[in-house]
Amino acid sequence: MSSIEQIRLDFPVLDQLVNGSPLVYFDNAATTQKPKAVLDALQHYYSLDNANIHRGIHSLAERATAAYELTRKKIQQFLHAESSDQIIFTSGTTGGINLVAQTYGRANFQAGDKILVSNLEHHSNIVPWQMIALERGAEVLVIPVSDVGELDMDAYCQILQENTVKLVAVNHVSNAIGTINPIKEMIELAHAHGAKILIDGAQSVAHLEVDVQEFDMDFFAFSAHKLFGPTGVGVLYGKRELLEAMPPYQGGGEMIKEVSFSGTTYNELPYKFEAGTPNIADVIAFSASFDYLESLDKGWVEKQENELLAYATEQLSQIDGLRIIGNAAKKIAVISFLIDGTHPQDIGVLLDKFGIAIRTGHHCAQPLMQRFEIPGTCRASFSFYNTKEEIDRLVTSLKRVKTMLL
Ligand code: PMP
Repeated sequence: MSSIEQIRLDFPVLDQLVNGSPLVYFDNAATTQKPKAVLDALQHYYSLDNANIHRGIHSLAERATAAYELTRKKIQQFLHAESSDQIIFTSGTTGGINLVAQTYGRANFQAGDKILVSNLEHHSNIVPWQMIALERGAEVLVIPVSDVGELDMDAYCQILQENTVKLVAVNHVSNAIGTINPIKEMIELAHAHGAKILIDGAQSVAHLEVDVQEFDMDFFAFSAHKLFGPTGVGVLYGKRELLEAMPPYQGGGEMIKEVSFSGTTYNELPYKFEAGTPNIADVIAFSASFDYLESLDKGWVEKQENELLAYATEQLSQIDGLRIIGNAAKKIAVISFLIDGTHPQDIGVLLDKFGIAIRTGHHCAQPLMQRFEIPGTCRASFSFYNTKEEIDRLVTSLKRVKTMLL
């Protein structure tokens, strides 16, 4: 059995018929599938260890706490962070960005301050900044995007030079068109101009190496469910001095040192930002994602994804009237496209009839769609468990769909 066949067996969901055809799952940018190890960890936790964490002194509580904190350790290693108390559990990338906007933003932004986002952002890296800007009288500026879908770095430098930007918020990788942004350079430039920077890593963690120290990141947020883990878990990494200076986000249990009616003192990092009973089971199961990823050959994963991207780009380009949106020199295995004379939604619905799952619409990136003057796209996003045969099925099915619609 080839390695890809073995790997596909690790993902039970892939082995099913959808509308009578074997499933082709090309919606990995929306969420990745989960290896059996993650499903087993979830089952194991609820079957044997279920308990509330941190406060309990009984054995189940101790086991649950140790497993929960082990995930934090694994994330620290995964991100190459200085210490595990800089790893804060949130509900997702959205949760992490809102936390920074509502705490760092509220404490630091003043009237007239500038927050810089890009035209490539997901709504969750735009709207939280608009909300806090409105509250604080700050302004959101935008880094423009070129016709191929790359950030205009000259404009970025110019905006930084001409304005006192307090914070830059950009994604590492665009979910809508796959562009990999030059974040190392962007971080250096932000710092050279006295700005802090938050990197939205939702789309990069499954594809690229992340080293928060090497890149000198101030904040980095991502979601477990895009890294083969469960939904409802996210991670926010922050530099220690920034996190320590930030006021808590929500009040409640766990985040306090002492409470009295004359005043309350707050817990240390990371608990200061983790009020209430967290998503214990899913955090614990997320641990298995890292073990699973460790068991794979990183070189093979990279090669597989690059080959899928190259093959799909070549095959899709041969379909008459198909236009790829976003041709950045550096991109992950995501292809956004349109077919002349058809609507993305119709294509998505018909592909589903052939068992093929793609994403259609604006991909929570309406400003980017506005930039390209399109209503949305069809997006096929690949993971290492996808195959060229699946891409062939996409191409054949698209040709059939075209004849049905045109
Ligand atoms: N940013 C990017 C680039 C994303 O792709 C996504 C998810 N599509 C998010 C943020 C939000 O992630 P979540 O919904 O998991 O919070």
